[in-house]
Amino acid sequence: MPPSDTSKRPTQAEAEQAVRTLLRWAGDNPDREGLHDTPARVARAYTDFFCGYEIDPAALLRRTFSEVEGYDEIVLLRDIRFESHCEHHLAPIIGRAHVAYLPRQRVVGISKLARVVDAYAKRLQIQERLTAQIANTINDELEPHGVAVIIESSHECMTTRGVHKPGVSMVTSTMLGVFRENSDTRRELMAMLNRPAACEF
Ligand SMILES: [Zn+2]
Repeated sequence: MPPSDTSKRPTQAEAEQAVRTLLRWAGDNPDREGLHDTPARVARAYTDFFCGYEIDPAALLRRTFSEVEGYDEIVLLRDIRFESHCEHHLAPIIGRAHVAYLPRQRVVGISKLARVVDAYAKRLQIQERLTAQIANTINDELEPHGVAVIIESSHECMTTRGVHKPGVSMVTSTMLGVFRENSDTRRELMAMLNRPAACEF
């Protein structure tokens, strides 16, 4: 995804004006007291919702550790909660990502995997691309034996509008390397994913 051309980026005042237009489009009066600061708040919220455009996900994975005592089994980080927005309706996508890789000598700090998830989630997304981007970035940077990314999420554009189907979750996965080619490795991953959590914090 090409980063946006910041030279053409609108000013905060232009962003606030656009929110005023949407408030009027919704049928309300942006000048009434309760809405007075809403355009500024929405503009600030957007910088939070979409902060992923400012982050280079690949750079997060450049610091690796090789003193792993020969560890050569699956590393799995599961239940990484994320918040994203669908690019079709700007509606929230709330979900959990499970990220696994089979290291080839080098491992990465586990918080970095969660940061890669956030760097792509905090952009306008569709879930299929989010899943593939996380997997491809880990694959390119760590060059492991394999990467697996599984995402389960709820799309508010489906629960609060359109077909109005709450309780529906969407599941996507990208399997690369041994996770794609070797059914034993994939089965081992699924067993790890289905194991009850050993600790709840
Ligand atoms: Zn949508």
